[in-house]
Amino acid sequence: MTRSCGSCSECCSALGVHELNKEMFVPCRYQIQSEQGGCGVYDKRPTSCREFSCVWLDGNFEEQHRPDRIGFVLATADLYEDLVILIAYPSRPDALQTEESKTLLNLVAQQIPICIFHPNGRRQMLIAEDQRHLLPRIQLGLEARAVVDENGELRRLPLVPEADR
Ligand code: SF4
Ligand code: SF4
Repeated sequence: MTRSCGSCSECCSALGVHELNKEMFVPCRYQIQSEQGGCGVYDKRPTSCREFSCVWLDGNFEEQHRPDRIGFVLATADLYEDLVILIAYPSRPDALQTEESKTLLNLVAQQIPICIFHPNGRRQMLIAEDQRHLLPRIQLGLEARAVVDENGELRRLPLVPEADR
């Protein structure tokens, strides 16, 4: 399924961008503030922006689950070769309170653990009962690769708040 971001630019607010020294949940200074949205430096945007695509853009879920409509971005984080989780970045305080959001997250969490990065720095795991034994590895993995990938390169995802490192 081929999708495009359209007028969504949720990840430009919700995720950190190390090249721009942009923290999570701070709107990027290059976001175009109009209904169409978009990036004001599109041709010169940082590598981490070029390489990023959210789970919805990769063709998952329904059309109405586009991040700006549902209020949170879901992104994959490869913690280890054999352990991938999702990270949810809610962009609105009430985004995770709707029945639609709860249903979607709980369904997905039956398949793959989800770590919610709340804007106040709190983290919350959604994980199936039979996967709870993975929690210590997930915690270590999140800490170990908070800002550095397997090649020692800084990455866009996930940038963890100072207090959590
Ligand atoms: S959150 Fe997903 S759909 Fe929205 S702009 Fe980012 S990559 Fe595109
Ligand atoms: S540089 Fe462009 S693509 Fe990257 S976060 Fe900012 S607005 Fe988004």
